[in-house]
Amino acid sequence: MDLAFDRRHIWHPYTSTLTPLTCYPVVSAEGVFIELENGEKLVDGMSSWWSAIHGYNHPHLNNAAHNQIDKMSHIMFGGITHAPAINLCKKLLNLAPDNLEHVFLADSGSVAVEVSLKMALQYWHAKGETRPKFLTLRDGYHGDTFAAMSVTDPDNSMHSLYKGFLPEHIFAQSPTSGYWHEWNPQDLDDFRHKIEAHHNEIAAVILEPIVQGAGGMRIYHPNFLKGVRELCDEYGLLLILDEIATGFGRTGKMFACEHAEIQPDILCVGKALTGGYMTLSATLASKEVADTVCGGEAGCFMHGPTFMGNPLACAVATASMELLEANDWKEQTRQIEAAFSELLPKLKNHELVADVRWLGAIGVVESTKSVNMEKIQAHFVEHGVWIRPFGKLIYMMPPFISQREHIENLIGAVENALEIPECFA
Ligand SMILES: *Cc1c(COP(=O)(O)O)cnc(C)c1O
Repeated sequence: MDLAFDRRHIWHPYTSTLTPLTCYPVVSAEGVFIELENGEKLVDGMSSWWSAIHGYNHPHLNNAAHNQIDKMSHIMFGGITHAPAINLCKKLLNLAPDNLEHVFLADSGSVAVEVSLKMALQYWHAKGETRPKFLTLRDGYHGDTFAAMSVTDPDNSMHSLYKGFLPEHIFAQSPTSGYWHEWNPQDLDDFRHKIEAHHNEIAAVILEPIVQGAGGMRIYHPNFLKGVRELCDEYGLLLILDEIATGFGRTGKMFACEHAEIQPDILCVGKALTGGYMTLSATLASKEVADTVCGGEAGCFMHGPTFMGNPLACAVATASMELLEANDWKEQTRQIEAAFSELLPKLKNHELVADVRWLGAIGVVESTKSVNMEKIQAHFVEHGVWIRPFGKLIYMMPPFISQREHIENLIGAVENALEIPECFA
């Protein structure tokens, strides 16, 4: 592979053209293994950012893609419908909280979030109210497009770079009570104060249920989410749940909101929707939200991406839902959680470890120092695993098909890294 060209001309996520870091050339992937150009195989600890839940190169997903591509890869969705979209939306509505009745298909997670925010704004406009603000949490992550970024943690996403352009929303403190810890009711105080002070200008609350992903890998207590739902009901606010990372079994429940036994008014899904094969997302809404939006001045929901409802992506997503049904994701994620809960606490006494946490098929080691990305990445590859940390967070969300030995490989490589001072800045 022409790595010199890559280094010189191709931007990778969050990278510099001045000091590009090493990129590892991958030629194929199969099951939980990623194969490098030199023939080395790495145990995957990332599921390609939460998405490849069934592992790579899966025959059932491949078949679905092949079958669909021979019929039609794409067709516009305006005035046209097709079986892949209908099949997928049936499955989605079956799995999702039962108050959600309408599905809007979009291209990526960030767009699903944009769509959810637009729905909330159109909802209030239809009711004759101007409500330009959203209430969200510190340490959250909702995507990299502007509206999604505006509700992402202002420090992590460097809002200062876009001052004057980026809308300013309301941020409440993120919960401090961990999922497995005792609930501290004071966690809700700041959120409650912000709602009390601003509810007349707030269109909706948007947050990641139970697990805050890229904004800090925080795994919080279900009582916080319960309290948020109650406060939204008390003040008549819409609740948007961003399950783009947590959806489809990752936390041990089909959707993370089930940990708190609550339902959102609007739900965003993406990432694992196609089992990691291609980009597709969806925003689901309650009948009340959809009907109110469409009863307003515009008479419709004002959005329609070119590749909306892409048949190829829908066919693969449907096949991914079929695998979820067939593969017993509950047992798979329970076993991964068991391995994390047994093996991660052993790292806790290390001086470089500030905290370890886990839930379902998610395991996190928070270090006391930021990692040296170049060094630690090379170390992981040498140890035959693919883990890509950020800042102080070394986190793993392996494919659901991972066996005990694969989790042991991942955690073993992290344990080894802790012994190498150069891996930390
Ligand atoms: C990844 C992510 C997004 C953005 O999805 P993209 O497909 O990268 O646009 C939004 N919200 C959450 C919670 C995510 O994890």
